[in-house]
Parts: sequence; structure tokens; C-alpha cells
Amino acid sequence: MDTPYWLEEDVPPRPVTRHERRVDVAVVGGGVTGCAAALRLAEAGLRVRLHERRRIAEGASGRNGGFALRGGACRYDVARDTYGAERAAAFWRWTEEALDRIASLAGDALRRTGSYRLAADEEEREAIRAEYVALREDGHEAEWLDDVPGGAAGRFHGAIHHPGDGAIQPARFVRRLAARAAEAGVEIREHDPVRDVETLDAERVVVATDGYGHGLVPELADLVWPTRGQVVVSEPLDRILYDRPHYARQGFDYWQQLPDRRILLGGFRDVSILDELTDVEETTPTIQASLEAFLRELAGSEVRVTHRWAGIFGLTQDLLPLVGRVPGRDRIWVAGGYSGHGNVLGFACGELVADAILGRSSPQLELLDPARFSS
Ligand SMILES: Cc1cc2nc3c(=O)[nH]c(=O)nc-3n(C[C@H](O)[C@H](O)[C@H](O)COP(=O)(O)OP(=O)(O)OC[C@H]3O[C@@H](n4cnc5c(N)ncnc54)[C@H](O)[C@@H]3O)c2cc1C
Repeated sequence: MDTPYWLEEDVPPRPVTRHERRVDVAVVGGGVTGCAAALRLAEAGLRVRLHERRRIAEGASGRNGGFALRGGACRYDVARDTYGAERAAAFWRWTEEALDRIASLAGDALRRTGSYRLAADEEEREAIRAEYVALREDGHEAEWLDDVPGGAAGRFHGAIHHPGDGAIQPARFVRRLAARAAEAGVEIREHDPVRDVETLDAERVVVATDGYGHGLVPELADLVWPTRGQVVVSEPLDRILYDRPHYARQGFDYWQQLPDRRILLGGFRDVSILDELTDVEETTPTIQASLEAFLRELAGSEVRVTHRWAGIFGLTQDLLPLVGRVPGRDRIWVAGGYSGHGNVLGFACGELVADAILGRSSPQLELLDPARFSS
């Protein structure tokens, strides 16, 4: 019951590599970020060792909702107002390209279904309508729907269809990434908690722990807040009601139906939002009760819950991730803080931090520089 649905699959085999001496880069964290960074660095010829406290994908990367969405954690129109039109447009395009690259690596772990961003009331309709208009003005693909087909028909106040988005089996994808990284020469050490990043036998260290590494690098403790998300999965329904990821109420509720017709539903963090600012990875009766009540509504009848779990993600003040060198530390780099939106961003930022270490420039490095909070 408490094992995330995604992690029940068999782990694919991967080669075992050992580096005897000091490596070029040590990566802490074996989720999507750490695996993407390790792969990129190894493909560039660097010697890489990845340390994971549990096993690959057993953090948020194997505990999430399986939404593979472009963009950032805030609405596009808000991003435009906050970071500037050009930067927001470039950031969105960069994540669209990352989603295409994920598609080329993921095989059957990614389905390009599109996604529905729903309005739960008139106020939210106005907000997402502004997002839709901004997306179209800047040439991003998006469609406006006054109603959506399927199980959500007649229940919401409009929707944006994002046709390029997808549904991902996140653990399958990340385990495949890890296998590729191992084939490229990355040494993967599982069940290997890092207690002090300064003692790692490496020229440089990438901290890719998102919500889980609180305190590992004290300079990041106030910048990335651990936040809990909870999920339930139902028994298989007898029909498909939701053919793609759906999300509403600023993403506080999100659900999709899996290929075996189960409903996966997450969210309702706002029911006790302060209690969910924690890195304690356990479900709570309050949020589980809200999830179960909404699950019944979505299914249209009583339905058995077969899986329930919690996971931790890293939240930042401006909802943008941190990617780059940790201010004041020469050897220590970070990529994390996706504010609950890390399946695509985590992959992109893992590659981005690797590129930064390799001396490759990118406009995203300026936007995501952890030093933006230093002043
Ligand atoms: C419930 C939930 C639902 C979500 N839904 C979605 C979604 O639908 N779509 C989306 O885009 N995003 C979603 N997210 C966010 C997304 O899962 C994360 O942003 C993403 O997985 C982060 O990947 P990561 O590799 O950076 O971190 P993680 O996958 O969390 O990996 C970090 C790893 O670091 C390891 N670690 C920590 N400390 C140490 C240490 N000291 N030594 C060694 N290893 C250590 C951990 O064990 C962990 O495996 C969700 C998150 C949660 C929790």
C-alpha cells in the first residue's frame, strides 16, 4: 500500500563501474536531476561518481504525479511580468526542447498526451485565460476550451490544453537514465548517504537532492524549503474517463488515469498547508481524507485505494530552480528547487548544471543563478 505505484516495476539491469581514485565530479542524489547531470558529464568524458542514500528514483522522482509539463511552476503570464517577456519566452522554449529530448530517451515511459489546465471557478478562469493569451502572443502552442471532454466535462470553468505535454512513468524514465549513465561510465553508489559534501573525493560536487537534502549545504537551507506532497492511486476503473493529465486550483489538485485505468490523484496540500512544509515522508489522515473524497467524485462511485504515499519536493521563494555554483563555495554546485514541477525541469537543470561545469554558457544560467538571493 505505501510503496509508490511507480516503484513497483522491476529495475532494469545496468553495468557496474568503479572509479578507484578521485573523480572529476561527485553527484549527490539519484533522481532525475542527478542522473541527467551524471549522464551529461560522463558523455563529455568526465569521471563521475553518483551517491544515492536510497536507490535510484526513490526520492520525489519515483513518488510524483507523473505529469511531464513544459514551463515553470508559475503561470506563463506571471513569469512574463516577473522575469521579463524575453526571458520567460526563452525559458518556456528551453523546457519544451527538454521535453522533446526526454521523449527521445524515455521510450514507453513517456506518452505525449497533452494536458488540461482547468479553471475551478470564474476567478481561476480569468487567470488561466490571461495565461492562454500570453502563451499565444509569444507563439507557444496552446488551445482554449470552454469545456473538456471526458470525466471532467461540465464541471470546470474552462481549460487550457497544452498539446505538447505528457504523462510519464517517472521511475521507469529515471532508472533508464541511470542505466545510460552507467553505460557512459558513471559509478553509481546506492545506499550511500553523504554526510559532508566537503569530504567527497572529487574535484567538484553537484548537489541534486531537491527537497531531501535539507541542511546538507547550510547556504541552501533558507533557499530551498522541503515541502510534502501526497498521492493516492485507485483500483482500475472499468473505463477511461481522463485521457491525459488534468490539474486545477493552481495545481493544488492534479490527477490522471494510468494506462491500466487506475486514477492517480495528488494534492490538497492547501488543506493544511503549514503542516506540509516538512521533510517527513509520511501520509496524514487530513489530506488523505480530502484526496479520497475527491477520488470518489472523479470516479463517480466508491472506488478502492490501492496505493498511497508521500514525497518531498523543494520549494523556492520565486518558484524558479537554483542552478549553478553555491555562493561562497568553489567546489559545490547545485541544481534543485523545482517547486513541485521537476519532471521536465529537473532533467533540463541536471543537464544545465553539467553544462555550467563543462564551461558551456546558457542564458538560463543567469536566470537560475543561486546568487540571485545573495543580496
Ligand atoms: C507528491 C509529489 C508529486 C509531484 N508531482 C509532480 C508532477 O506531476 N510533475 C512534475 O513535474 N513534478 C512533480 N513533482 C516534483 C518532482 O517530483 C521533483 O521536482 C523531481 O522529482 C526532483 O527530482 P530530483 O532528482 O531533483 O530530486 P529527487 O528525485 O527527490 O532526488 C533526490 C535524491 O537525493 C537523495 N539524497 C538526499 N540526501 C542525500 C544524501 N545526503 N546523500 C545521498 N543521497 C541523498 C534522495 O534519497 C533522493 O533520491 C512532485 C513531487 C512530489 C513530492
